Amino acid sequence: MNNNGRILVLSGPSGSGKSSLLKYLLANFDNATVSISVTTREPRKNEVHGVDYEFVSKDEFQKLIDNNELLEYEEVHGNFYGTSKRQIDSALSEGKIVFLDIDVQGYELVKKAYPDITSGIFVTTPNIEILKQRLQSRGTESEESMKVRIFNALREMEKIPLYDYLLINDNFNEAKEFLRSVAISSLIRASRYKINEFIKEWKGS
Ligand code: 5GP
Repeated sequence: MNNNGRILVLSGPSGSGKSSLLKYLLANFDNATVSISVTTREPRKNEVHGVDYEFVSKDEFQKLIDNNELLEYEEVHGNFYGTSKRQIDSALSEGKIVFLDIDVQGYELVKKAYPDITSGIFVTTPNIEILKQRLQSRGTESEESMKVRIFNALREMEKIPLYDYLLINDNFNEAKEFLRSVAISSLIRASRYKINEFIKEWKGS
């Protein structure tokens, strides 16, 4: 049976809890890896190069674009973010499940590149007030950056219908379990099988 890798994209407003959910998933799922995006954004306190992101200059980012090394890239909140082709290809060739925390436009491009093996989950808070509170308590954003993030959240919410799943992160423990269930079901999506080959093998001919 073919055991190609698969891609699980998490999108949603900054502050919806995507990164905590991803950390949990990564620690509790076999044969999984996370795609570490490249960004021109300044690192926040506690962020580590090569762990949270690969932090690069605008020139370095431009070089990656010119050399066709990015599967997709976008300008989000005034900074550039991109997904490395090399990372995704190597994870998929090892049959791994790759988690991506990318924005809505990035999701659409990844889905176009890998339609059969990509599942999308949109993560959000129960309402806008809770999102504001979470962003405030995180304490990493300036007043201006908060405004941009809230504005973008409203725009991103409009794209929920493009996703396979909507995860409302009200209770973290419950959200974790839902996410794990989605990751498990992505392993058996019929579309990821080469059906004709599977039938041939199944018949033993
Ligand atoms: P933050 O600055 O809060 O880490 O991320 C801001 C936004 O950029 C989030 O919505 C995140 O999902 C998105 N993002 C992070 N990496 C990528 C990427 O490689 N590609 C795209 N398209 N968006 C990304």
